[in-house]
Amino acid sequence: MPDSSMYLDHFFHPESIAVVGASENSLSYGARYIQALIDFGYKGKLYAINHNGDNILGYKIFRKLSDVPDKIDLAFVSIPAGFIADIIRECIEKDIKAAVVFTAGFSETGEHGCALEKEIMGIAAGKIRLMGPNCFGPYCPGGGITFVTGSSFSCEPGSTALIAQSGQLAECIIGRALGEGVRYSKFASYGNAIDINEADLLDFLMQDDETRIITSYMEGVKDGSRFFEIARNNSGKKPVIIWKAGLTGIGAVASSSHTGSIAGTNDAWNAFFSQTSAIKVTDLDEMTDTTAAFNCIPEGCGSRAAYVSGGGAGAVIGADACEISGMQMPAFSPETEERLRELFPGTGTSLRNPVDIGNPHPSIELLEALLELMSADENVDIIVVRRVLFSVKLSRIFSGSTAPPEEQQQTLLEVPVRIKNKYKKPVAIILSEDLTDVKSLELEKERREIRDYFFSNGIPVFLSEQRAFRALSNLARFRQRAGAGNIPAITGKDKPSEGREVFIEILKNTGSKIFNEIQSKTILKKYGINVTEPMLAKSENEALSAAEKLGYPVVMKIVSPQITHKSDIGGVKTDLQGSEQVKNAYNGIMKAVKEKAAGAFIEGVSIQKMAEPGIELVIGMTRDPQFGPMLMFGLGGTLVEVLKDVSFRIVPLSGEDAKSMIKQVKSYRLLEGYRGRPGADIENLEKMLLKFSELIKENPEIKEIDINPVIAYKDGAVAVDARIIPD
Ligand code: ADP
Ligand code: MG
Repeated sequence: MPDSSMYLDHFFHPESIAVVGASENSLSYGARYIQALIDFGYKGKLYAINHNGDNILGYKIFRKLSDVPDKIDLAFVSIPAGFIADIIRECIEKDIKAAVVFTAGFSETGEHGCALEKEIMGIAAGKIRLMGPNCFGPYCPGGGITFVTGSSFSCEPGSTALIAQSGQLAECIIGRALGEGVRYSKFASYGNAIDINEADLLDFLMQDDETRIITSYMEGVKDGSRFFEIARNNSGKKPVIIWKAGLTGIGAVASSSHTGSIAGTNDAWNAFFSQTSAIKVTDLDEMTDTTAAFNCIPEGCGSRAAYVSGGGAGAVIGADACEISGMQMPAFSPETEERLRELFPGTGTSLRNPVDIGNPHPSIELLEALLELMSADENVDIIVVRRVLFSVKLSRIFSGSTAPPEEQQQTLLEVPVRIKNKYKKPVAIILSEDLTDVKSLELEKERREIRDYFFSNGIPVFLSEQRAFRALSNLARFRQRAGAGNIPAITGKDKPSEGREVFIEILKNTGSKIFNEIQSKTILKKYGINVTEPMLAKSENEALSAAEKLGYPVVMKIVSPQITHKSDIGGVKTDLQGSEQVKNAYNGIMKAVKEKAAGAFIEGVSIQKMAEPGIELVIGMTRDPQFGPMLMFGLGGTLVEVLKDVSFRIVPLSGEDAKSMIKQVKSYRLLEGYRGRPGADIENLEKMLLKFSELIKENPEIKEIDINPVIAYKDGAVAVDARIIPD
């Protein structure tokens, strides 16, 4: 397989671009693209290609790509869909390695479009990389290129990248972020993603020296397994901020397992976010704030905030917002508290964290001393300043003569910057928009200048307490998840295990039917999962001798390919203490089957040891349409679909994933042991989940699995029922 990042740099730093479909009509997209590149200051060579016309915007129009006398790095194709296959062939002949297919009208319009896409990919595979179709293509200030409607975007290169299928939404995101001091390294709108998709781009940007922060708007992923693998294996390397939209999307698919019917699209994405260091944002505000915050503080920050407010209510609001976001406002050290009292003698204000300094215009000396104290405190990771009026003009309006003198404006702004640089501890500022009277426009201009000053000095500025803490908690989460070894890379095994051979054997024998309990448990056992081993008995006598062999008490269950939920039809008899009970159970089961599942093919009954009572859990697996196999863990038994106390992780699991998915369920306290009741051997369950993950990874033919229940004890656990459903 070719390297996924093959030729991707051609899209961002092309030395020459051929615009296929640039006609003399200046309103054609081809012509508009050339105009946008000229306006943006593209320095490379431009060639216009069209089947007629002589000149466009001063460029000679060539009839064919092969007529161009030079080497071409990138083709931008904007011609009707039906002609694109031919043009891609011409591109390959001309040795062009990268093409943006701008044209729409492919798979998004129906079957014919799908077929066209397939045809084009068939031609392109391995020879040329394609972005699109139905896309805006790349924007890269460093390479001097932008997209059709992006001529007024900033030409100044930055270190944030954006991945988004939709070009239109990207305009909103980039437009907003530019105003918050964010500059971009690279952006790609990749449309229908017939070749280059989000996984290729993520992989490429992870290696890209121009990019420190990766942001993305996503409705879905084309190659979820690869996207997951790249995100996880690069976790902690760069912040990856993902605005995932459309969580309410695809409805549940019909399913014959509990696991399949419980899992939803949200579960897979939530698993994705808990298994990688990727940061989930849910709207444009959070996207902008988080990006702007990382732009100032790329390494993230700790979660303990010191908070300064120029007023009491602001302290309370800030404390709420902090708590809701998952950040903390810790107590200061005794020395800090002592010094604070010296700094604010005899005031009625609160000098504990959050600190209310009583009025919004402290003197420069006081502000400096306060921020200095907080920065020096070891209990503090970040300082958040709220409603300290950094605008002297504004101070005037609110309090007239107590405002600092006009000439101190710049000195006031320099205080937080100086302290941040001295202590290397991040500072964030909340400058709220709260002016609507006639002076508001003039003041807004000043507010923006102040904000820009802070942004350009590495201090993020937010519009509200809620928005500030939402963004800062994303920084804190990244920092915490990025710690050494937190998210280990998962590497594949060299050779398949013995379990794989057994699985293939059983699959051959059963065709595509659901594996029965005996077959399913045979496979589980091969992967080291503890089970109550069933023996097949085809008659009452065989049942009796199996029971004698195993020793009482035993459990008897129906074995039939048509009966998957055995106890629903009376096909399970537990706690059989002797031969008489075994006989009765056998007859009872046969009678029940006749009544409730007439016509079912009966292979016999299974006899197995009765397991001791313990905590009944469920472990399951289902396939997410985007991310592939997903493992489920939770409280088991017949109420599993009602209580839905379960957690999900994408396969393969790391040790950390196994740990955290157990901790995530509400019943975790039960597992720890509750009011004298024995708990569960959690370490053993973690190991079981990892073995289960291994089983799933090695056998891609499995569609769903239910192990319900697994009975957990103080020492160990055992699977007493199992059902494997092949695809
Ligand atoms: P199904 O889920 O198809 O109805 P199970 O095999 O899960 O059938 O059996 C139903 C219930 O019987 C289980 O939830 C469990 O409580 C109990 N059970 C089954 N097998 C055993 C066993 N070997 N030891 C103890 N209890 C068992
Ligand atoms: Mg069961």
